[in-house]
Formats: sequence, C-alpha cells, structure tokens
Amino acid sequence: MSDAPVIHHFIHGAAVESSSGDYFDSLDPATGSVVARVAAGNAQDVDAAVHDARSAAGSWADVTPVQRAHVLFRIAAALRAEAEPLALAETLDNGKPLSQARSDVESSARYFEYYAGAVDKLQAETIPMGPDYLSYTRFEPYGVTAQVIPWNAPLQQAARGFAPALAAGNTIVAKPAEDTSLTCVRLAEIASRCGLPDGVLNVVTGLGEVTGDALVRHPEVDKIAFTGSLPTGQLVMKAAADRVVPVTLELGGKSPNIVFADADLDSAAAGAIRAITLNAGQICSAGSRLLVHRSVHDEVVQRLVALSARVTVGPGVRDPDMGPLTTEDQWRRVRGYLDLALEEGTSFASGGKVPTDSALRGGWFVEPTIVVGVASQMRIAQEEIFGPVLCVIPFDDDAEAVQIANDTDFGLVAGIWTTSLSRAHRVAAQIKAGQVFVNEYFAGGVETPFGGYKRSGIGREKGLEGLRQYLQVKSVTVRI
Ligand code: NAD
Repeated sequence: MSDAPVIHHFIHGAAVESSSGDYFDSLDPATGSVVARVAAGNAQDVDAAVHDARSAAGSWADVTPVQRAHVLFRIAAALRAEAEPLALAETLDNGKPLSQARSDVESSARYFEYYAGAVDKLQAETIPMGPDYLSYTRFEPYGVTAQVIPWNAPLQQAARGFAPALAAGNTIVAKPAEDTSLTCVRLAEIASRCGLPDGVLNVVTGLGEVTGDALVRHPEVDKIAFTGSLPTGQLVMKAAADRVVPVTLELGGKSPNIVFADADLDSAAAGAIRAITLNAGQICSAGSRLLVHRSVHDEVVQRLVALSARVTVGPGVRDPDMGPLTTEDQWRRVRGYLDLALEEGTSFASGGKVPTDSALRGGWFVEPTIVVGVASQMRIAQEEIFGPVLCVIPFDDDAEAVQIANDTDFGLVAGIWTTSLSRAHRVAAQIKAGQVFVNEYFAGGVETPFGGYKRSGIGREKGLEGLRQYLQVKSVTVRI
C-alpha cells in the first residue's frame, strides 16, 4: 500500500471521495515513483458536481462585481503566499523545472488579479434608436461552465479559465488531466478559503474518456472550455454541438519562428532554444519550426548547437533548464518522432537521443534536439511533436517565409526576428496565427489575447477577450 497523498474530488467546498472507491496513481516523471493517489471520477461524481454548480449559479451571478473582485484578489494573494509548495507540487507532478513552476504560479496569480481588476469596468452599450426608445445591452454569465484542462501547465491553465469565468459570474466544474491533478484541486481549496462560496468552483478528477466525457455531455452544462489535443477537441465540439452549447477550444500548434537575415542572430538563436526547451517543448505555442533565411542558415545552426549543448537536463526539483517529459506515453511519442525524423531523411545537428546519464535512467528524459534538412511537407514539420525537437527549415525570401509559416493546419502563434520595422509589421499581418511575437518569443502576458486560427482552436483566452468568452450579451429595448 502506497503512503502517497490521496487526492479527492473537491465538491461544495470540501474533499469528496470517489463514489466508486477507485483511485489511480499519479507519477513523478523524473523517477516514475508515485506522487499521489487520485480519485477516479465517474458519471455519478460529475453529476453531483454539476448539480452543485447549478445550485450556486444564481447567487454567484448576483454577487456584485466589486465583491467578486475582492474574492479574486484574495485568491491571487493566497497563490503568491503559497507559491513554494504549489511550485513544488507542480514540479513533482508535471516534471517542469522549479523556476518554471514558480513562474506558472505567478502567472496564475496574475490571471486572478487581472480579471478582478477588469470585472467592475465592463460597461455595456446604449444603442441609438431615436427619442421613442431606450435600448441597451447587458452582459450576463452563462451559468455552469465545464473546464477540461491538459497536463502541460496544469495550474496556470486552470487559472486562465477559472479567473475570467468566476469574474464574469459563472460557476465551474473542472476536470484536470489525469496525469496532473494536484495543483488544480489545491487551487479550488485555496479559492474556497479565500471566501469563494461553496459550489461555485468544483473539481472532479479522473480519466478523460470517462470523467471528461461525462462532464462535456452533461445536460446542465451551459458552456465548455477545453484545452488539449486536436482529436479530443473535435470530440468535445461534437458533444457541444449535440446540445448547442458554446465551446472554447484551445488546441495544438506547430508554430513558425522566423529568422530573417537582418535579425540579431544571437538573440534569435537564444530565443529559438528557449521556444523549444521551455517545459521540455510541451507547450502548445512552442516554436517548433525554425524558418531561417538561407544566407544565415549555417551561422544560426552553429549557434543553436552551441546553445543546446549548454541546456541542462535533469529532475525538475534540481531546477535545470529542462526537465523530463510529463508522461511515459509522451516520451515514447517523442522518441517515435525522432525515429521518423531519420526515416524522412533529415539529420540531427545535436541531440536526438535519450540522455545516457545513469542518474536520469528512471525518468522520461530526451535531449534537446535540432533537426536539419527538414522540408515543410515532411510529417515532422507538419505534426505536433510536443517535445524538445526543433525542425530547421531554410527559406530564400520573405514571400517563401510566409508561405512556409502558413503551410500547416495549425495557427496558434508565430515568432519573427528582424531589425526591419516594416518587415516585422508586414509579415505579422500575413501570418495566419492568433498571436505574433517580434524579437522575443513568448512575448506578451495575461493581458494579450491568445487563441488559434485554423485547427488551433476557437475563441480566445487571456486579456479582455478572455473575459468576454464567459459573458453573453442581451439587448433590452424599451418603448418610451
Ligand atoms: P488531451 O486532449 O489528451 O487531454 C486534454 C484533457 O482532455 C485532459 O484533461 C483529458 O483527460 C481530457 N479528455 C481526454 N479525452 C476526453 C474526452 N473524450 N472527453 C472529454 N475530455 C477528455 O490533450 P493533452 O495530451 O493532455 O494535452 C496536450 C495537447 O494540448 C497538445 O496538443 C497541446 O498543444 C494542447 N494544448 C493547447 C493549449 C492551448 O492553449 N492552445 C495549451 C496547452 C495544451
């Protein structure tokens, strides 16, 4: 019998045991050891949570915006006060280096702070209809929102959905990824201690095809926010279509990071390495395709090889540059893509293997890998690998750079490195992606709207756009 902590559901402000009595193991990706035993939710657990969220919906919607803001500000402060234990739990559960987990806790606090500050400034409109009418709009919450969360940034992605949903007056039933449930449940406990009424934020842990499926199909859910892979997103959208429920989808990416010949090559190379090694490349917005002008291709690759040799790899608790992949499945998948890269005729300028260091043998590590000789139509340049594997593709002119950048089913983000202002703005406008970074990959923050073009998703999170996704507009017209 394992002595690992036991994670229950969080329903109506309290820990609730799995109704079936079933629990599963959540593993430390750096060692494979058990971090926690997690409740395996079923349709009955989901039903209890959704009914609770439904009961709480009316009264939470009636809480004044400023009072809702006070609760959210307290949650932000509590997250900061508990940053160290939260970061450690995230590192053990997800594998990411401690400093990246700390940064995720800070971003989570920022989401609560940002939407707390915004919610009492949301003014609607009056509509000019002449002297005989008064016409105006109101923002109203949807009611019960279902939030399905992936494993790559569990706390931050929970906060990204919870904060605007709560600020707007909705209630929540969340389903964290089965591999990383710890910090999502912890966040719900913190929110409850900060004065969030019971039933407003519930978490049901469990497997996607059981708990997640029951949640997105539940007849009392009024809006679905899903972050995860494209195939699951398609299933969720079909479930939403059956009931005509609005859905926000944040899906995958294969984002281009474009280095023009006039760029500061040192900054561009450093930015490119960070764009693919942060969180071991398991970021939907990772810069996984590096498009380099042919005249500087070899110089850039030389820099990438030198920089990747300096990337430290190890257990997240030792705070290296890069931790393990979060799940064994993902580790196998990434290694499959490394094999495919060779089969497709490319070569590794660096990396391409599992580290040989015996201290890393128990975990799901791979080396940061630079793949050269890649052509845009290859599978490794088209499919989301979700690991530290950078595909370098040369281009000859701006038009070709834009054509290759857009030559993907995805459209989440793009990076541009250039010293020409005109080129930066011209190319930014031509890129089919929801967010463009110029001269700093991952530029932006909780304030900047984020979401996909094409198959990267529907709707926007972050910024004021993120708040609008949780509000419906009603117009009222009065004959005077
Ligand atoms: P996933 O689709 O396998 O799982 C995501 C979540 O959906 C998990 O909680 C899972 O349990 C749940 N789920 C699985 N099957 C379900 C079903 N049938 N019904 C309802 N829920 C179900 O994705 P993942 O592997 O956890 O995450 C990686 C993917 O997420 C990548 O493609 C990545 O790009 C994407 N992602 C996107 C963003 C973004 O903001 N665009 C952010 C992070 C991750």
